[in-house]
Amino acid sequence: MSAETSWTELETRMRELAELSRVVTLLDWDTQTTMPPAGSLGRARVTATIRVLRHRRLVEPRLGELLADLESSDIDPQRAAMVRVAGRSHRRAARLPDDLVRRISVASTLGNSAWREARAAHDFAQFQPHLEEIVRLKREQADLLGHDGERYDALLEAYEPGMRTERLVPLFEGLRSELRTLLDAIAGAPAQPSPLNGVVYPEAPQIRLANRILADIGFDLDAGRLDQSAHPFSSMVGLRDVRVTTRLYPENPFPSVFSTIHEAGHGMYDQGFDPAFEDLPLSEAPSLGAHESQSRLWENIVGRSRPFWERYTPVARELLGSDLGGMDADAVYRYVNRVSPSLIRVDADEATYNLHILIRFELELALLREELEVADLPGAWNDAYERHLGVRPPHDGDGVMQDTHWSDGSFGYFPTYTLGNLYSAMLWNRLAADVPGVDDAIAAGRFAPILDWLREHVHRPGHLLECEDLMRHVTGAGLSHGPLIDYLWAKLGPLYGISRP
Ligand code: ZN
Repeated sequence: MSAETSWTELETRMRELAELSRVVTLLDWDTQTTMPPAGSLGRARVTATIRVLRHRRLVEPRLGELLADLESSDIDPQRAAMVRVAGRSHRRAARLPDDLVRRISVASTLGNSAWREARAAHDFAQFQPHLEEIVRLKREQADLLGHDGERYDALLEAYEPGMRTERLVPLFEGLRSELRTLLDAIAGAPAQPSPLNGVVYPEAPQIRLANRILADIGFDLDAGRLDQSAHPFSSMVGLRDVRVTTRLYPENPFPSVFSTIHEAGHGMYDQGFDPAFEDLPLSEAPSLGAHESQSRLWENIVGRSRPFWERYTPVARELLGSDLGGMDADAVYRYVNRVSPSLIRVDADEATYNLHILIRFELELALLREELEVADLPGAWNDAYERHLGVRPPHDGDGVMQDTHWSDGSFGYFPTYTLGNLYSAMLWNRLAADVPGVDDAIAAGRFAPILDWLREHVHRPGHLLECEDLMRHVTGAGLSHGPLIDYLWAKLGPLYGISRP
């Protein structure tokens, strides 16, 4: 069979797999935004069925034959990349029986529902049996997928292909010690004030502000939409159907602004893949760390910058119909960059955020290594928070149950947040060197120079290269914590009147 004939058949199969994934994405979006709570058991079965159907298509021997055919043929770099990506998914999936795929899918959907209730009731005991089942299944899955003695690697591979625990441990240790130095310096400086005091910001104006910022920064609202959910997320239902959500707090309009910008960073990445490869393995990010580099770059480096708030303080005042507790642009800039060790990851500032991730990484690594069991997890969590952040959760709702990830089986996911932060700072260094006057552009509300640069260097290539290769290619540097730490000192040093030792 000619390579061209094999390619045509492979392409049809790859599109079908992507389309089945899109169905699951749409079901998940609906589950998290509009499904009535009583629908969860039925939804768990429907979602599991689609996942199993997709799994069966993915493991078909015919797909393996086509991939083997093309791996040994002379094909262009784009096709070679797609064969590499599809081949990896096929080989991983082939190690997992249908039955395990179904059990994991059902346990994840039910675990997620149980977690929602247990979290609201601050009652870990309700959630514990579900989490025990999920951890059992994830250990089993990791062993079937295969590893060199480190189960965690087998799960990490799904989110960050090529990354390994033995590389993360020293990378994160170096980061932790640099963050400690920074946080100790900040702890000795006067705290930044919090001028918001009890004023209520109604939903409609907050949503208007979110939509205004979405449109300004370049999220295409004809190919996307904004909804509300308990936990903000973005999902790519299709290249021209990208959905983001936000969460509103009545007494503080800023978290919604930042979650909107964060999810828009993800969403603009998804809207920016090359349309020529729609529903093929090139129209995806090479890893979740790469994806998070986009959301964090927009949320923190752009959205928490001084020029951004020079532009948007008057806009926020007008659209919210409020004087924001009397804050001018400088006060808002100081307010949104306050550093204070806290309990909740999603509300954490830029300087402490990664410590929340390192705690989760340590704990999930211990669970996979069977050095920790689920029953002991809440205590281990609380001790780790006390040790690393100096705070102790008053109950498990604000402690071990604050995140959704473990409830739906996403073990190995958390490190991608920190990798995304590291990559965002590396990318910004290069972007700021390539795009002169970027601060002036932000202050003028012109974001196209930033988005155009990201489109060209990060979005359009999609999964042509693996994440670390892409980042090295674009930035000329290897993965390290240096650029993020430099960025944090450059911003927080003047704000807190501290200098780097
Ligand atoms: Zn994100």
